[in-house]
Amino acid sequence: MRNILILTCAILLGVGGFLALAIFVNPTDTLAYSYSGKKWNTTSVGVDVSDASWPSSWISPLASAMSAWNGASSPFTFSSSASGHKFTRSNMGVGPLAVNTTSYIGSTIVDCDTNFNLYYSWSTSGSGCCYDVQSVATHELGHWLMLYDLYGGGDTEKTMYWSATTGETKKRSLHSDDINGINYIYP
Ligand SMILES: [Zn+2]
Repeated sequence: MRNILILTCAILLGVGGFLALAIFVNPTDTLAYSYSGKKWNTTSVGVDVSDASWPSSWISPLASAMSAWNGASSPFTFSSSASGHKFTRSNMGVGPLAVNTTSYIGSTIVDCDTNFNLYYSWSTSGSGCCYDVQSVATHELGHWLMLYDLYGGGDTEKTMYWSATTGETKKRSLHSDDINGINYIYP
């Protein structure tokens, strides 16, 4: 039995959504991290960038996103390989910046793929015009670990915070709670 879990990264449905959320989220609700309980049965997962939709100019920022998690002092590492666990791109229209599709059997992850939404404009340089590839890729790789989005008033500086703005690059580097999350899953 294989279950498919679609994680629609609510990253960034607009300032209005964020403000409305902030009204209802009490800062005391802040979580250090949020984890699904599912994990890979290996500490070495390949990330496949061989799909034609993923341009060569986006390979380096994705590698930097992998390096952020690889530097978290957990035995778990991402590497570039033709694993079939793919980063791809397509125009999905109005909606999330990226969508993860995770397949699992029981509590074991068997596949993860991320599709970036080309409805939005992207940059690899942190330009204020656009969403930052590396910053969002780092967030999405957190979902590959099955860390969940965070919504608390005290979570805004974390890579796993649910929303992002154009020109924002702060998710490129992990917050101590993001680091605690991967080390909880893969100690
Ligand atoms: Zn997310």
